[in-house]
Amino acid sequence: MHRERVSENVFWFQSEVYAQVTAGVVVGPQWAVVIDTLALPDETLTIREFIEHELNVPVRYVINTHYHADHSWGNCFFPGATVVAHANCRAYLEERGAPSLETAKRQNPALRQVKIVLPQMTFINGDLTLRVGKKNLILSPAFGHSDDGISVLVEEDRILFAGDSFMPVPHVVDGDVDDNIASIKQVAKLGLENIVQGHGDIILRGEIDAAVKENINYLNAIKKSVKAVAKRKNAAELLPDIKIENCGKSRVYLSGLAEGLHQSNLKALLYKMAG
Ligand SMILES: [Zn+2]
Repeated sequence: MHRERVSENVFWFQSEVYAQVTAGVVVGPQWAVVIDTLALPDETLTIREFIEHELNVPVRYVINTHYHADHSWGNCFFPGATVVAHANCRAYLEERGAPSLETAKRQNPALRQVKIVLPQMTFINGDLTLRVGKKNLILSPAFGHSDDGISVLVEEDRILFAGDSFMPVPHVVDGDVDDNIASIKQVAKLGLENIVQGHGDIILRGEIDAAVKENINYLNAIKKSVKAVAKRKNAAELLPDIKIENCGKSRVYLSGLAEGLHQSNLKALLYKMAG
């Protein structure tokens, strides 16, 4: 797992085993806040180890940016912490997380100790502010990848943990393409130093404008491309011809997962357009 210090008391982690998924830690004098929990227990426990034995504080809060397994299934490894999320995240973890964990456990013995822990503290609209040390963490809804997404702004440092509402290849299969465009436009207004994407690398200040533009262009391009084939009888068969490069993205993103994510976006859009 990669670890980096993003600014004073703010750390970033990136998985080396699962889709470059990321997590964060913001630490104060008495306790720390974890933002997302990664996919596999080994990596989650490495984060906890770092916080407890190198930063020498306990974890008091865990924030889930959304309910997907690779961001929330590690909640159980922070037993003393309060889990904070959007109200929809709690509902989805309960309805969908629990059954999908049962299935996943049968396929992957590494998940044996995992239990779903539902967020105890939730919000629906507006912002929620959490003060840790000298920093405000501002939690705000950021839908599009899923309709329980939130982002976490480290206000003083202008660092945004965007969750999966900002990715190297936006993924809208479980969300809504227009919501994702709206979330990305929101990001552009924040005057950020860094965007921590839910997957992939940290985006630096000088790269933000281009990344925002590229993601919005991509989402508009897939809408347009799917619309163009949707009227055809064999529309589904035509989707593989809509290559990711034609929509302004490179297939090398996320170590080769990009084209797969892209094709699943096209299928989801076609399914929606077909009603
Ligand atoms: Zn996700």
